[in-house]
Amino acid sequence: MQQVALSHKVGLVPTMGAFHGGHVSLMRAARAECESVVVSLFVNPAQFGERDDLERYPRNEERDSRIAEDAGVDVLFVPSADEIYPEGFGTWIDVSAAGGEADARPGHFRGVATVCLKLFNIVRPDIAFFGQKDAQQIAVLRQMVHDLNVGVAIRAVPTVRDADGLALSSRNTHLSDEERRRALALPRALDAGREADDPVAATRAALNGLEPEYVELLRVGDATLLTAAARVGSTRLIDNVLVKGELA
Ligand code: AMP
Repeated sequence: MQQVALSHKVGLVPTMGAFHGGHVSLMRAARAECESVVVSLFVNPAQFGERDDLERYPRNEERDSRIAEDAGVDVLFVPSADEIYPEGFGTWIDVSAAGGEADARPGHFRGVATVCLKLFNIVRPDIAFFGQKDAQQIAVLRQMVHDLNVGVAIRAVPTVRDADGLALSSRNTHLSDEERRRALALPRALDAGREADDPVAATRAALNGLEPEYVELLRVGDATLLTAAARVGSTRLIDNVLVKGELA
């Protein structure tokens, strides 16, 4: 018989697969803090809008399963769309959020909050791990667990970047070499904006011709982040840097 201590913590890392170093960093953070680590892999149709890239979202479950195993994950949970949204599904979590991704992708956070609450109820983790790259997602989920008395702690894990500064993202695989070079303007501009008197204006000025969807300051608890989104070719990228405080 397996004995489980009272202090036994279950960690959950919700993902949409196509794993990269950012996902692995979340898995490692969960491994370091929790006795059991569950990673969910579900490309959640509810968080994609009409203009979004659900159809071409990269999928490679076999590779993902090897990566999760190498990172010491105990369970890779891969539900089907029918299991998550069975016929007759009719309950949605609508966290109030404004600016940034909330305005740029209407309905996105409704899909995120709904699937995350479902995953929390299925897996029943003590702690759920999310990347700082999606900082507004962390803000939305913290609001949800607070408002709805969900007993899950939301941890933020720093953004993992390539050596040249581009934040790792499953969508980077869509970038051509030339687009990838242009995409570098996003982290560089945020870096330039972070110390400026007017971070938004300084970031806009340093975008090197990249047309942003938005550049905004975002408050998450005590932390202030400088966030931006831009399309490079047909690929939509988001990124942010901390201006003040800590997300953790
Ligand atoms: P996704 O599979 O893209 O939905 O992302 C799953 C989780 O990984 C989310 O919590 C993301 O914030 C996180 N994540 C994505 N990219 C990165 C990154 N470059 N560094 C750290 N975490 C990341």
